[in-house]
Amino acid sequence: MSQKNEEVVYLDNNATTCVAPEVVEAMMPYLTQFYGNPSSMYNFGGQVGESLKIARKQVADLIGADPEEITFTSCGTESDSTAILSALQSFPEKRHIVTTRVEHPAVKNLCDTVDTLTGHKHRITRLKVDAEGMLDLDEYKAALGDDTAIVSVMWANNETGVIFPIEEMARIAKERGILFHTDAVQAVGKVPINLKDLDVDFLSISGHKLHAPKGVGVLYVKRGTPYTPFLAGGHQEHGRRGGTENVASIVGLGKACELAAAKMEEENTRVKALRDKLEQGLLASIPNSMLNGHKTERLPNTANVSFEYVEGEAILLHMNRYKICASSGSACTSGSLEPSHVLRAMGVPFTAAHGSIRFSLSVYNTEAEVDFVLEKMPEIIESLRKMSPFWKGDQT
Ligand code: PLP
Repeated sequence: MSQKNEEVVYLDNNATTCVAPEVVEAMMPYLTQFYGNPSSMYNFGGQVGESLKIARKQVADLIGADPEEITFTSCGTESDSTAILSALQSFPEKRHIVTTRVEHPAVKNLCDTVDTLTGHKHRITRLKVDAEGMLDLDEYKAALGDDTAIVSVMWANNETGVIFPIEEMARIAKERGILFHTDAVQAVGKVPINLKDLDVDFLSISGHKLHAPKGVGVLYVKRGTPYTPFLAGGHQEHGRRGGTENVASIVGLGKACELAAAKMEEENTRVKALRDKLEQGLLASIPNSMLNGHKTERLPNTANVSFEYVEGEAILLHMNRYKICASSGSACTSGSLEPSHVLRAMGVPFTAAHGSIRFSLSVYNTEAEVDFVLEKMPEIIESLRKMSPFWKGDQT
């Protein structure tokens, strides 16, 4: 059985992924026969509780954590909010957050609204990135103060795939006694993570980015880290998150983590080769195109390419005619035509930022699909440029 929709060329896996067939299979019994409440005393519920234990271990194994450090949530956004708000509650006398200018809205918008949410005034430092999307560690060190409650820095950027030096940044925070959160929603399953060796206190995961269903996530909380639940309620998740567990999806997430752990090295080598072929092919065949983000410090599946003098949304519409799915920064999701805050932070010129397309691959993509995209993209860009008043021919 293949879950993949064969009708589309799906290169938008940083937005969401197909659910792996093995994951669907693992989930089915919990949507049909085993519907007991995992907190119930009788065996019919207890065996469902057992399945949560297995899933917790599968997730923990993928990231080098202990099962007790894993709390299931509803999504990556909930995990991010929980981590940051928990740290602020643990240290009410500290009112400073250090983060970056390129975080996903799950962290960015929480920081923007944290004063309203908490009723307290906070100081937020948003670290700059350079033209390749990398942070300056000296700026980071200088930003940390006695009043810093938490650092929240993503492991890998969802738009460019750029990977931040989390190990070093977490160590620096630890030396200063500051809690460290990383939004690893795009990294988990794509790059190896071993939290045993890291000073990370909180880490966020989202199921639907790694071939599990939507609506399930994880917050890793290092043993001993002060913690206050975001959802108060029942005693579920050892009192760390109220609400009856989304059992089938949690079982699916566990299976997805097991699959990712088993195949990561081999599959990511293959995905990276496909990504590189796509990226190099596009840059070679389309004039005035450029890669956004660091060449090597990057997720193996992501290529963010700008096509100057054309509009990202228009490119997507033309790609859609060939059933090729990708994404143009955050413009389409925000409903505005503003270029993405990530590319703006990197200083990508307006003409290029507007025409940026994020291609994000998965283990289910094939070389034939990449070849198809490489065949269609030059003609799409050329036809759009013919209509552009700004295009004056190859300007490389
Ligand atoms: N963080 C990053 C880096 C993401 O890419 C996303 C989703 O795009 C999220 C957080 C939010 O995850 P969820 O959709 O599970 O809330």
